Amino acid sequence: MKTILLNPGPVTLTDRVRESMLGPDLCHREPEFADLQAEIRRGLLAVYQLPPDAWAAVLLTGSGTAAVEAMLTSFVPRTGKVLVLENGVYGERIAAICERHTIRYERLRHDWLEELDLTRIRTTVRGDPAISHVAVVHHETTTGRLNDLAPLASLCREHGAELLLDGVSSFGAEEINFEQWPIAAVAATANKCLHGVPGTCFVIVRRDALAAAQSPKRTVYFDLQTYVEHQDKNGTPFTQSVQTFYALAAALCELAAEGGWHARRDIYRARIIQVRHLLIRLGVRPLLREGASSCVLHAFELPQGLSYGEFHDALKARGFVIYAGQSTLAAGIFRISMMGAISPQDVGRLCAAFEEIIATAD
Ligand SMILES: *Cc1c(COP(=O)(O)O)cnc(C)c1O
Repeated sequence: MKTILLNPGPVTLTDRVRESMLGPDLCHREPEFADLQAEIRRGLLAVYQLPPDAWAAVLLTGSGTAAVEAMLTSFVPRTGKVLVLENGVYGERIAAICERHTIRYERLRHDWLEELDLTRIRTTVRGDPAISHVAVVHHETTTGRLNDLAPLASLCREHGAELLLDGVSSFGAEEINFEQWPIAAVAATANKCLHGVPGTCFVIVRRDALAAAQSPKRTVYFDLQTYVEHQDKNGTPFTQSVQTFYALAAALCELAAEGGWHARRDIYRARIIQVRHLLIRLGVRPLLREGASSCVLHAFELPQGLSYGEFHDALKARGFVIYAGQSTLAAGIFRISMMGAISPQDVGRLCAAFEEIIATAD
């Protein structure tokens, strides 16, 4: 029996993506690798139709956190300051990265079940002219909340602050308005909404914003300017994870063939709404209202009479891996992500498994 991953990355792969990794061995200093890298960089910009003279896709070897760390250390100049908005684990991780690298920052904590408080954000940005950047998680995977970026973007524009987005679990499936929002950079990864494998992550950078951020460098491995210089000349500063590049190239072809991010959003949404409605009918309560949730992942309170471990194991025995809550939410919730190669039949079997497990628990 094939196991379907309902955790928020890594995802269940298509055969084409899995088999692509059996491509020829490549030296990362040979033209074949340069072609592969260039194809992926073009493909990533094409997801949101970004012109390559204004934007660059920077490829790194690492998980999503590596991209977020590279973005923060490369973009916030020593004379600048970043306002970090937190309503979950990943927002808190941004602050932890700033702390470790002694990046000047201020954090605005929110309860994990709260949406971003624009009034507090406005007061903070107004009161501190040193704030040059606002860092925020687009889809906060902790709860499944899609943070509402449009009003935050206008607030930032009004005050001359630029956005640094953790788009790790939204890039490729949610709207990111690169034209109208004052975005300096978006960090993301191959193995979430793009359906590649873990190992490659990337930062989409606005070229003029990266150039303007230059100040004494904070890191060797994560300096995005170094990567842009090498990758624009078809090179790479360090060894890249060649096989995961093959997978990302194949996954980007599949996304384009499927109709791009809009189509992917519609597919995820249809799947998650089907599951959500079934769970509600079975008496399971969603953590957030439907309109506040992403298309990628929804969180639910555990069904009556089942611990997370029991629920998880019963589903795993039927071929589905769900995901626990983190930290204070660990004991009370479970999460379902709809990324990856999941067929309508798989969703049907999942719904049947929910009915069976939850009915017998009552
Ligand atoms: C998955 C994820 C990350 C990165 O996690 P890694 O384990 O480093 O890949 C960062 N931010 C968000 C919002 C995520 O969902």
